[in-house]
Amino acid sequence: MAELSPVLKQATPVLAARGEGVHLYDEDDRRFLDFTAGIGVTSTGHCHPRVVEAAQRQVGTLIHGQYTTVLHRPLLQLTERLGQVLPAGLDRLFYVNSGSEAVEASVRLARQATGRQNIVAFSGGFHGRTMGAGALTTSGTKTRAGIGPMMPGVAFAPFPEPYRHGWSQSEAVRFALTELDHVLATVSPPADTAALIVEPVLGEGGYIPAPPEFLTGLRQRADRHGALLIVDEVQTGVGRTGRFWGLDHAGVRPDVVITAKGLASGFPLSAVAAPDELMSRAWPGSQGGTYGGNAVAAAAAVATLDIVHEEGLVANAAEQGARLAEGLRTVAADHPVLGDVRGRGLMIGNEFTAPDGSPDAAGAARAQQAAAERGLLLLTCGPHGNVVRMIPPLVVTAEHVDEAVAVWAEAM
Ligand code: PLP
Repeated sequence: MAELSPVLKQATPVLAARGEGVHLYDEDDRRFLDFTAGIGVTSTGHCHPRVVEAAQRQVGTLIHGQYTTVLHRPLLQLTERLGQVLPAGLDRLFYVNSGSEAVEASVRLARQATGRQNIVAFSGGFHGRTMGAGALTTSGTKTRAGIGPMMPGVAFAPFPEPYRHGWSQSEAVRFALTELDHVLATVSPPADTAALIVEPVLGEGGYIPAPPEFLTGLRQRADRHGALLIVDEVQTGVGRTGRFWGLDHAGVRPDVVITAKGLASGFPLSAVAAPDELMSRAWPGSQGGTYGGNAVAAAAAVATLDIVHEEGLVANAAEQGARLAEGLRTVAADHPVLGDVRGRGLMIGNEFTAPDGSPDAAGAARAQQAAAERGLLLLTCGPHGNVVRMIPPLVVTAEHVDEAVAVWAEAM
């Protein structure tokens, strides 16, 4: 009998039978409050009736039409809808299926558009598991261990981590930008640097928001050196942080935005957006793929964007995120092991630190397990796995938040 491979890490295996809103139900109809959202994917909640309806209608009409041969209405509608919310000037889009693919596509685009090879990424970042995206990823050494050689032409600079170093935010930013200047002066000189790639909130790396001054500093350096600024909004995009894009907190102009997870409420879809002036420097056929912009996924994404807009989910993420952070800080006040509670919008991390100051991954895993036993599904993240993160669907209500905080307090 075949079984699932152990290479798929499962922390709290639940045999999910169905999902509805912020809840999952197992095969015995046990209800779980899902504060994982399929790793930030089911933005409109599980099986939002409008997403279900749009997908079902599309399945019965046209499941797949490949853009080299035919276009279809969902793809055109999605492009128009994304154009309304993307930062000004990012008016050319194409689609692939996952975050990793979109990251790889952005690297290809940056190299083609600039004629330069190097990409500067930030330590603790996570951009995916494929060979190119994996080369930009340092969060979780296991994503690289025994897998190299990785894609060449990658240099790393530090991401600002105030809590880890016991620094103020401005000290952390100053250190990170000074180190970046050093990397640009030595390891990856401007003439070789095609792009900087950054997450507006370090995701898998521990839910650490990028301070606005850091992103402004990256923009300045990209401009100074003629490099592109690629913003990886795979996890932060589509309202997750309480603004439509994570980079909206800094008001910084990107050259390329990539987004995926929350875009299609659970259907595999990712988008790469850049100005025409950049896209037209890549040759036709150098991007895309067989399934990119699949009609059903695109129809689900159009419905998702409509729901996010009409149900005010970006504002809800900001409001419920603030409520959740406040509740979690109250819990942390009673538990010294919870050294830091941080995040943006509905993307909040609880960092476990042992009394000697070392990362307490075992404590985080025990708390995650205790929460799951009490019906609250959570994930961990961070380079040491010692951050319990909460990333509920954007439709979460104050009642769900209060319930989750109460269960978390009990689990702790
Ligand atoms: N980029 C970021 C910021 C992510 O958080 C992830 C996944 O967690 C990826 C890229 C890779 O996405 P995928 O798992 O869809 O390939």
